[in-house]
Amino acid sequence: MIPYGKHYIDEEDIQAVTAVLKSNYLTQGPMSQEFEETVAAYTGATFAVAVSNGTAALHLATLAADIGVGDSIVTSPITFVASANAGLYVGAKVLFADIDPQTVNMSAEALQNQLQKHNNVKAIIPVHFAGLPCDMESIKSLADDNNAVVIEDAAHALGGTYADGRKIGCCSNSLMTVFSFHPVKAIACGEGGMITTNDEAIYHRLLRLRGHGINKSTDSFLYTEQTDENGLFASWYYEMQELGYNYRITDIQCALGLSQFSKIELFVNRRKTLVGRYDQAFLNLDNCIPAQMSGRENSGHHVYVLRIDFDKAGLSRQQFMLSLKERGIGSQVHYIPVPMQPYYQQLGHEIKDYPNAISYYKQAITIPLYYSLKDEEQEKVIDAIKEILG
Ligand SMILES: *Cc1c(COP(=O)(O)O)cnc(C)c1O
Repeated sequence: MIPYGKHYIDEEDIQAVTAVLKSNYLTQGPMSQEFEETVAAYTGATFAVAVSNGTAALHLATLAADIGVGDSIVTSPITFVASANAGLYVGAKVLFADIDPQTVNMSAEALQNQLQKHNNVKAIIPVHFAGLPCDMESIKSLADDNNAVVIEDAAHALGGTYADGRKIGCCSNSLMTVFSFHPVKAIACGEGGMITTNDEAIYHRLLRLRGHGINKSTDSFLYTEQTDENGLFASWYYEMQELGYNYRITDIQCALGLSQFSKIELFVNRRKTLVGRYDQAFLNLDNCIPAQMSGRENSGHHVYVLRIDFDKAGLSRQQFMLSLKERGIGSQVHYIPVPMQPYYQQLGHEIKDYPNAISYYKQAITIPLYYSLKDEEQEKVIDAIKEILG
C-alpha cells in the first residue's frame, strides 16, 4: 500500500535516540536546548521553545499573547482543528476568514471583512496550507491597523520560505510561529512542537508557561522579602507566578528531531521534485487541477492536493478513493472545513459564510507525497488517477 504521507527514519535517527537512552537525561535536557538553537538558527528567529506537540505550541502562543475571554481570534476554515481550538482553549471566540481559491490560504480580503465586522480581534492565526506561505505582508499590516498580533501556524511549512526568500518561522511579520513534528509533517519527533519568536518577553513567558508557570530566574521573583540578609534567594527557591502546564518535550524526541532536521533540505527538495512531476502529469487531464495554482514555488510541500470536479467526472469522491485503494494507493481529504464540525456548528458558525472553503472541500483530494516515495510508485499513482478519470 502506498500511503498519502509517511515519515522516513534511517539508521542515524535510531542511533541518535539510542544515545539519549544511554545518557543521563530522558526528559527536557541538552538535546531539547540544541534542538531549539538549531531551529532558531535555521529559521532566523532569535528564540525558539520546544514543546510536547504542535497543539501545545499553539495553546502556549495564544496564552503568551494574552488572548482570553472577550477577545476573538481569526483563522482559516481550511485547516486542522487545532489552529482554531487554540482560541477556544483560552476562552476566546473563534472567527474564520474564507480562503483564496488560488492558494487555499486565508484571503487578506476576507480577513479585512472580519476585522471590519468585529472590533475585538486580538490575534490572527494564518495557516500556511500545505506549506505554501500566506500573504504575510497584507496580514501583518491588517493586524497592525487593528491592534492584533499574528501567530503563524506553520505546522505544514518547515523548510519553506516567504516570497522574499526568508525562511518561514523567522517571524519578520508575526509575533510567533508554531511548528509541528508529528510524523506526517516535514520532520518527525513522534510528537513534538516548537514556537519561534523575536520577542524576549514572549520567550520568557513561553518558557514559564511550558513548565507549570514556575519561574526559576532570580531576577524576576516577585516575593523579594524571601531573600536573606545579603539580598539573595535560597538555592531551592522558585515561584509559580501564573497558571502554566506541563508541555515539556523529552530529549528522546529532540534527539530524533535533531537527526531528522539534518535532512530537512533533502526532504523538502525531494518533495519539490515529486510535486513538479505531478503538476506535469496532470496538466491536460480533464476535470482535475492542482489545488494550489499560484505561490507554490516557496512551499514546504507538506501535502499534494488535487481538485477534481467529481460531478463532471461522473463518480463520487468516495468511489474515487476506493478505486485508488483497490490499486494499492492511499489518499486523504485536507480538510473538512472547521466551521462544519459539530462542535463549531453548535457554537453558531454558518458554513455558507465560507463559499470558497466549501467549493474547495467538495473537490479536494490529497494524493501520496513523502520523501521516500519512489519514482515508480509515483508513476503508479499517476497512471491510476488517469485511468480512473478516464
Ligand atoms: C498537525 C497540525 C497541527 C497540530 O500539530 P500536532 O503536533 O499534531 O499537535 C496544528 N495545525 C496544523 C495546520 C496541523 O497540520
